[in-house]
Amino acid sequence: MTQVRTRFAPSPTGYLHLGGARTALFAWAYARHHGGTFILRIEDTDVARSTPAAVQAILDAMAWLQLDCDEGPFYQMQRMDRYREVIADMLARGLAYRDYMSPAELDALRAQQMACGEKPRYDGRWRPENTAGMTPPPGILPVIRFRNPDAGTVGWDDGVKGRIEFANAELDDLVIARSDGTPTYNFCAVVDDRDMRISHVIRGDDHVNNTPRQINIFRALGAEPPHYAHVPTVLGEDGAKLSKRHGAVGVMDYEAAGYLPDAMVNFLARIGWAHGDDEIFTRAQLVEWFDLAGISAAPSRFNAGKLNWVNQEHMKRLPEAELGAHLRPYLERAGVDSIGGPDPGAVAALLRDRTETLVAMADAAWYFYAPPQVPADKLDEQVDAANRGALVELHAEFATLEWTREALAVAMKSAAARHGLKPPKVMMPMRLLVAGTPSTPAIDAVLALLGREAVRSRMAAGLALE
Ligand code: GLU
Repeated sequence: MTQVRTRFAPSPTGYLHLGGARTALFAWAYARHHGGTFILRIEDTDVARSTPAAVQAILDAMAWLQLDCDEGPFYQMQRMDRYREVIADMLARGLAYRDYMSPAELDALRAQQMACGEKPRYDGRWRPENTAGMTPPPGILPVIRFRNPDAGTVGWDDGVKGRIEFANAELDDLVIARSDGTPTYNFCAVVDDRDMRISHVIRGDDHVNNTPRQINIFRALGAEPPHYAHVPTVLGEDGAKLSKRHGAVGVMDYEAAGYLPDAMVNFLARIGWAHGDDEIFTRAQLVEWFDLAGISAAPSRFNAGKLNWVNQEHMKRLPEAELGAHLRPYLERAGVDSIGGPDPGAVAALLRDRTETLVAMADAAWYFYAPPQVPADKLDEQVDAANRGALVELHAEFATLEWTREALAVAMKSAAARHGLKPPKVMMPMRLLVAGTPSTPAIDAVLALLGREAVRSRMAAGLALE
């Protein structure tokens, strides 16, 4: 097999959305699976709509998802000389020609064709074979068109959709350079895919109609086109095309919302790709398993509930220290000063069974790093004449107790027993005293992690001791 070379070729006209990120992931995974090369190409020739901020958003999202490229990023705006060179060559060889039709003429032609019930299409009047003896009209800056073959069909075996064929008679002579000289998408894509020796073009199926035109240009240039695989659209939960209406659809919004990059990669891969029944997998497994045959030909839906589940499963599987490193910046963003407090990895290990995102985890973690404000009415509900004595004793006992989870559990149970109480009668107020909330992980584990000083001072404050 030839060396696999894939590319991701976004247009920097907005943030990188989920559909685009999934396309990038598939192209990346295909290259990695085959030990090939992954190339990033920024298609920024639409100067009016491309912005540096959008370029940066793409680079940021690729970096966050760790879709590292081996070559690039290449910028099409920096390759203008190359496109001009190819256009000049095509003109010289009769593969392309100047079309001097004015916009008004083109409109008239279109109107006439539609009136006859025909599909509007360029009629080839400036093709080289039709222009013998004609002189270009003054004052018209021509567009340059590719001389498409008239007869036969153009087709390919699509890596996702199977055989696709178009009749050449259906294809217009494509404009490859506008009247201001700027080359068009279909043309630049071919020059680049050829120069960059792309073996497999994996892209959204909104490009299926471009592919026959691109193949014809490839062949005219005497080059073999790459293999093509067109990936179906990502739909929202309601079955409509995924859009801003469906909430956060820019990839970096998911970073902000507290998803792990590996969980996001897992989740994105499962939108429209499957490996047996595997739902949770690592990046390495994805690379090992990825193939085009696993891509579904039908559009797939985005499912936010599933993303949360996938994320939590990844959080549960991460080594404590790694999860802690992921949690740290989210603690900072939540305004939690973790310096000098418990190790975020240990905190994360306690919270990961009860939170689905790093944001939720950071929100749930604040009492590990700062004393809670305990609402007086809540405290009055929990601390009464029956259990106050047990809590006061525990406060004293904690001064010298061996500070382990086991010893803490035994001490709380014994205190409850001494006062004829069920253990929750001691443990619930303890939660409130040290965490300010009755919903915490196992209280013995929370106490163990908080440490003697913090626990005792919080108890003293809540119980108004000393
Ligand atoms: N720049 C095109 C887009 O963002 C992709 C072109 C391609 O993959 O061939 O839709």
